[in-house]
Amino acid sequence: MAKQNIVVVGSSNTDMIIQLDRIPKPGETILGGEFSMAAGGKGANQAVAAARAGGSVTFVARVGRDMFGDQAVAGFVKDGIQTKYVFRDQSAPSGVALIFVAKDGENSIAVASGANGCLAPADVRKAKAAFAAASLLVMQLETPLETVQAAAELAARHGVQVILNPAPARSLPDALLKRVSILTPNETEAELLTGIKVATEEQAGQAADALMAKGVGTVVITLGARGAFVVTPQVRQMVPGFKVKPVDTTAAGDVFNGALAVALAEGQELLQAVRFANAAGALSVTKLGAQPSAPKRAAIQKFLKANAKATA
Ligand code: ADP
Repeated sequence: MAKQNIVVVGSSNTDMIIQLDRIPKPGETILGGEFSMAAGGKGANQAVAAARAGGSVTFVARVGRDMFGDQAVAGFVKDGIQTKYVFRDQSAPSGVALIFVAKDGENSIAVASGANGCLAPADVRKAKAAFAAASLLVMQLETPLETVQAAAELAARHGVQVILNPAPARSLPDALLKRVSILTPNETEAELLTGIKVATEEQAGQAADALMAKGVGTVVITLGARGAFVVTPQVRQMVPGFKVKPVDTTAAGDVFNGALAVALAEGQELLQAVRFANAAGALSVTKLGAQPSAPKRAAIQKFLKANAKATA
């Protein structure tokens, strides 16, 4: 029987958001802002999205021995995520993102990675048992690259497929790309990785070809509201997105990746899995915040049923 556990290795942050008229200039103080706090960090967002979409998820991460770390772990437990390998760092604080959002939608973000920057290859190796029992590993790039690489190698040793969401955008060594079963860049990330501007489906196909020439198995380029372009050695196809009224697109990519992992771990065929991920991503943009916007499985299924004809 196929193993269906999903391991997510990555970052956890607390997002502190101030909505205000405009973003303060250096040296300036602006009163009148509205504050909110939400759990974030690409790794944690993807782990939570996968758990809510119905996955059995183990999260490998590092948070501080502080209030934010406590809150983050409590949130993971609430979502049914296995937290045995969410390590508490002795000295580094939990990751924090300070976000200003102006009335016109412009934002300005400062991230203190804290404990995320201390997630080490040795931490990944401590989670060996979880890798041995997994069918899929999901990663992003908010933790040290050597740790991402170590996890990809451990996954290969255990025959575990690797989904890498190459965000935030950065160049990657071929040695890592060779280990990636499914790479899921957005347009910007695909362009940074290949030097090919990705605006049209044809360009998405060209960028995907370049990535596959470097050893990536399958490329799924997410194209915002348009959906996702899928390229494998046999398939080259757009999977259209769903029409929704966007409220906040934060973490749409993270929710897409978490849901994609669940559908694939369950054995859904690739194009069908991407459709499931498109539905989860679309639902997430109808709600504010990163983790608060990740939909539960029942909501995804209801949405798919209601939109059965929309993109079939
Ligand atoms: P990222 O958030 O990483 O920039 P995208 O913007 O490409 O990634 O979004 C990821 C996925 O989320 C898309 O492939 C799509 O399925 C869904 N999505 C994003 N924005 C919208 C939108 N405005 N309407 C419907 N679906 C969306």
